[in-house]
Amino acid sequence: MTDQRRRPGGSQDELVFMALGGIGEIGMNCYLYGLGPADDRQWLMVDLGITFPEGENDPGVDVILPDLRFIEAERASLAGLVLTHAHEDHFGAVIELWPRLKAPIYATPFTAALLKAKLAEYGGGAKLPIHEVALNGRFKVGPFGVEFISVAHSIPESNALAISTAHGSVLHTGDWKLDPTPVIGAPTNTDRLAALGSEGVMAMICDSTNALREGRSPSELDVAQSLARIISGAKHRVAVTIFASNVARLRAVADATRRAGRQLVVAGRAMHRMIDVAISTGYLPQNFKYLDQDQFSYLQPHEVVTLCTGSQGEPRAAMARVAADEHPAIKLDRGDLVIFSSRTIPGNERAVGKIQNRLVDMGCELVTDNDALVHVTGHPRREELKEMYGWVKPRIAIPMHGEARHLAEHAKLARAAGVSEVLSVRNGDIVRLAPGAAEIIDEAPVGRLFRDGHLLVASEDGPVRERRSLAFAGIVVVALPQSARDGVVPDPEVMLDGVPARDAAGRLMLDIVRDAVEGTIASIPRKRQQDTEMVREAVRRAVRSAVDNAWGKRPIVKVLVTRASR
Ligand SMILES: [Zn+2]
Ligand SMILES: [Zn+2]
Repeated sequence: MTDQRRRPGGSQDELVFMALGGIGEIGMNCYLYGLGPADDRQWLMVDLGITFPEGENDPGVDVILPDLRFIEAERASLAGLVLTHAHEDHFGAVIELWPRLKAPIYATPFTAALLKAKLAEYGGGAKLPIHEVALNGRFKVGPFGVEFISVAHSIPESNALAISTAHGSVLHTGDWKLDPTPVIGAPTNTDRLAALGSEGVMAMICDSTNALREGRSPSELDVAQSLARIISGAKHRVAVTIFASNVARLRAVADATRRAGRQLVVAGRAMHRMIDVAISTGYLPQNFKYLDQDQFSYLQPHEVVTLCTGSQGEPRAAMARVAADEHPAIKLDRGDLVIFSSRTIPGNERAVGKIQNRLVDMGCELVTDNDALVHVTGHPRREELKEMYGWVKPRIAIPMHGEARHLAEHAKLARAAGVSEVLSVRNGDIVRLAPGAAEIIDEAPVGRLFRDGHLLVASEDGPVRERRSLAFAGIVVVALPQSARDGVVPDPEVMLDGVPARDAAGRLMLDIVRDAVEGTIASIPRKRQQDTEMVREAVRRAVRSAVDNAWGKRPIVKVLVTRASR
């Protein structure tokens, strides 16, 4: 943000909103509310999540985090970080990025317990200032009044936030749906939402994930009943894969298992961690019974239901290893039933498809959400959104948590629901919510960080961009000895990686490169050959175009000019 871009009147007291991630994408949620004049604001951060790369465009990257440079620069004015719920796209970046912020963290008990469990596992002994707030509790974060409002979702303790300021109040919905029978936890606190609406809500920032889908989402209870029917009718082994964080689903599978007279076996570390946290926070009973994976081999096929991690095709998770017949304890066979009680996140289709094909090749029967009601979304469809607008009646609406088409449909729906100011914003847009009419007043730097090995690197100008070119067209390395007396010696050393060895006529690519190098050097007068930079660039271009002629693709070319000893 540059000072020239600040509007005149920048000293007035304002309430602003912006996303550092999560608008224009589904994932990497990170939102900021700012209070005060432009040059002296207090900030409240809501959520700090990760996203995953789609497809194989970013070689070697498995996790993407938001670039926080805007708020890092103002970290002294960051009053706190409030977490709406414990999904990775909302809290997955906390452990890695907190050291850049060092602000107090506020969360309800389940989210706090899961964060602590992850911290114990991956945090390297770090301690975070986590403040636990009761469900539907109220607290202060700097100048912001914050109230958690329980909403149904696909993990225990999802919360909307009512944020109150001197300028008015904002409802930040987080991820939610309406589900009168969520199996675990209370239904969405619609009474409180309606009460807020009557008190007057200035702005609502709301989930757009299912804005394209008509009607209402089915209940988690419908899924539980459907799973129970399928499991009770099975003759052989049953394996179920779910998102580990969906404790209601986990409970539904456990209940169906017990009622079918079978035993539950749990495979996968994430599932064990989730069960421990769910027991400690009261979402599963203290005496919740399940067997570890090494008990699997003692059970007859009709006695077992196995709960596996890996619904997204993660290669190291239990389901992938079972499908590859490489799991140390769990083996499936002809006639066994495998239920994918999950939705495949865009980008994971191929990985999931590969696992499902292997299971079918093994003779397993497959049930996915295309075949039966074995999964429901955790996000509101259109009728649910309309109800929310009916209760809250905000003056301003800003769709979030969606890609462009979800945001656009949501914006239309909000207008049709009678909202007078509907803003379409993207990550980085700074929106003034008050005073006056809402408008985009400025822009903050935003971007993505890649987790690369155990480093965080920039996405645009970092090493991953070069790896894309390497993956596409390989590399040619040319080493040229140079001596003060003879200039460049036209006897290059050449290495090719990821480049074909011969052209279509059978000529060695190494020879093609050497000829290009020698021809180029011969064309440069001896005196000018002392200009190392010029030589290097001329050789690089010549090699690139010679390989392009021979192959039809242009590799990365590196030319090293080395000083000969004499
Ligand atoms: Zn969520
Ligand atoms: Zn989410």
